[in-house]
Amino acid sequence: MSEEREALAELARRRGLFFPANEAYGGTAGFYVYGPTGAAIKRNVEDAWRDRFAIGEGNMEIDAPTIMPEPVFVASGHLDGFDDMLVECAECGESHRADHLVEAATGMEDAETLEPEEIAELIAEADLACPNCGAALAGQDVTDFNLMFETNIGPGSDAPGYLRPETAQGIFVEFPRLREYARDQLPFGVTQVGRAYRNEISPRRGLIRVREFTQAELELFVDPERDEADLSSVADVTLTLYPAEQQGAEGREYVETTVAEAVDDGTIAIDWIAYYLGLAQEWYSSIGVDMDRFRFRQHLPGERAHYAADCWDAEAEVGGDWIELAGFAYRGDYDLSRHAAHADDEFTVFQQYDESVTVERPCVDPDMSVLGPEFGELATDVGNALADLAERDPGAFDGEAVPVEVDGQTYDVPTAATGFAVEEVTESGEHVTPHVVEPSFGVDRLVYTHCAHALREDEVDGEPRTRLALPPASAPTFVGVFPLMDRDGMGERSREVADRLRSRGFAVAYDDAGSIGRRYRRQDEVGTPYCVTVDYESLDDGTATLRDRDTVAQRRVDLDDLPDVLAALRADERAFENVGVAVADA
Ligand code: AMP
Repeated sequence: MSEEREALAELARRRGLFFPANEAYGGTAGFYVYGPTGAAIKRNVEDAWRDRFAIGEGNMEIDAPTIMPEPVFVASGHLDGFDDMLVECAECGESHRADHLVEAATGMEDAETLEPEEIAELIAEADLACPNCGAALAGQDVTDFNLMFETNIGPGSDAPGYLRPETAQGIFVEFPRLREYARDQLPFGVTQVGRAYRNEISPRRGLIRVREFTQAELELFVDPERDEADLSSVADVTLTLYPAEQQGAEGREYVETTVAEAVDDGTIAIDWIAYYLGLAQEWYSSIGVDMDRFRFRQHLPGERAHYAADCWDAEAEVGGDWIELAGFAYRGDYDLSRHAAHADDEFTVFQQYDESVTVERPCVDPDMSVLGPEFGELATDVGNALADLAERDPGAFDGEAVPVEVDGQTYDVPTAATGFAVEEVTESGEHVTPHVVEPSFGVDRLVYTHCAHALREDEVDGEPRTRLALPPASAPTFVGVFPLMDRDGMGERSREVADRLRSRGFAVAYDDAGSIGRRYRRQDEVGTPYCVTVDYESLDDGTATLRDRDTVAQRRVDLDDLPDVLAALRADERAFENVGVAVADA
C-alpha cells in the first residue's frame, strides 16, 4: 500500500472515519463501516451533491427499492452481460480479476475490453502467478462472472430478484410515472442517492472497490432532436482532459481547455456531456478534491458500452493510482427502448409541435368479404401485415396484387381488396423516446479521495501533527468548544456556548478531557475547521479564543458575536484575520 493510503487507513481507523465491517467475525471483504466521523463526512458530501446536481439544477430526486425483480435486469442487459473476468488459483483457490492481473503485469490500460480467451493467453504468455500463493496461473480457465447478488422475492424460488448493481434502473423503470410528474416536458432530470451492490471478485483498496457502496446518479431525459445544452454557465470553466487518442503506450498528454473550446474543436463530441464535465469540475473543486490530481479520461472505443455515444470518467490520483470517481455517458435511447420492449408500459413522451402539421398517411381498409374466404383463419394476420406494409412501403400497392408475408409465407392480395388510400391527417405532435445523459458519481470513492487529498502532516510548536484540511462543507464537525478546565464555571459557560451554536445549526464537538493542545490535535485530525476555548478571561469579559485549524492563528472573539462570526466564516463571507482581535494584541 502506498504511504498516502497507509496514512489514511491508519487515521480512518483511529478517528472513526471508516473501517472494515464484521471484524468480530473475522471480517467480510468488500464491506466497510463509516464511523461517526466518516458517516458525517459522507452525509455532507451527499448533501453537497444534492445541492448542486438535484436542487441546483431543478431536478427531481427519488428513492427506489434496492431489490428489483429479474425481468428488470433481463431488459437492462445486466443479467446477460454484467460480468467481470474471473481466474481461480488451482493451488490456493483464491479468486482474482483476470483483467486486472494482466493490466498490473503488462501496463495495459484496457484489458477488460478483451475476450476471456485472450486474457487466458496473456496470462500464459506473461507466466503470471497467483498474488496470494505464487502458484502459476497459466492454463487456468478465465470465465465471465456475473456481479449481481441474487435473492428470492418471497418464499420459494419462483421470483428471483437481484440487489441493484446501480441506482439508475429504479429511475428508468419508473419513467412512465416520472414523466407525468415532469408534466410530459423534456428535458427533465431525475436523481437518486442510494446503495448499489456488486459482488466484486476481489474487493480491495479500502473504500475504492467494495461490494456495497453508494451512488449518486442523475438521469437527464432529453429530446435528441430539439433539446440542446445551454453551455453559458460553464463555457469558461477550464477542464483537464485526457482524450482517448492521447492514451497511447508512449505516455500521456493532457489537454487543458475550456468547456467552450472543447466543444468547438470537437474534443468533447456531445454538448450535454461537456456541460456536466464543467459542472463536475467546479463541484469537485468546491468539495475539496485536489484539482492538480484530477482529470477527465475519455473511454477508449472498446471500453464503451455499445450504446454509449461518448463517455468520460472523472478520475483522481491517490497514492500513485488513478481512481474512477464518476462516469459521464450519453446513453442514447438504449435504456428506455429496452424497457419499452420488455415491460408493459409506454416509455415515450408526447412532444407537441409548435404548430400542427398536415402529413400524408398511407393506410388500408381491407375488404374482409374478400380476405375471409381467401385466407380463412389467417385473414386477420394478412390484414395487419397489409397495414404494416402500407406504413413502411406504400409503393408496394402500385401493382394489381400486393405481396405480404405472414409466418414466413408470402401471400398475394388483390390490391383492390386492400382499401389502400393516402389520407391527409393533421398531427399536433409525436411520441419520442427520450435519450439519456447520465452523470454517475460514486460517493465512497469521493469520500476516500477527498480525505486522502486533505491529509496533511506538518509541525506545530516543534511537534508533528496530522490534519485533515477539509472544507467546511464536508467537515464532520464545524467547531470544537473547550473549557480551558472544567472548573470555576468555565465548563458551564462552554456548554452554554456549545448549546447556542448547536441551536444555530452548527455541528459542535464539546471536549473537556486532556490538555488543550491534545484537544486541538484531536479536532485537527478529523478536520474541524475552528475551535473555541473558554478561559478565565471569558468569565470576566465575555470573550474567547477562536483558533483556525490550518494556520493555527488565534483571535479573541466576543462570545455574543460568535454564532454570526462562525456563520460568516462558513459562508466564506469573512476572512479569519478579520474577525475579533489577534490574540497577541488582545
Ligand atoms: P459504473 O456504473 O461502473 O460506471 O459506476 C459508477 C460509479 O460508481 C463509479 O464511477 C464509481 O465511483 C462507483 N463504483 C462502481 N463500482 C464500485 C465499487 N465496487 N466500489 C465503490 N464504488 C464503485
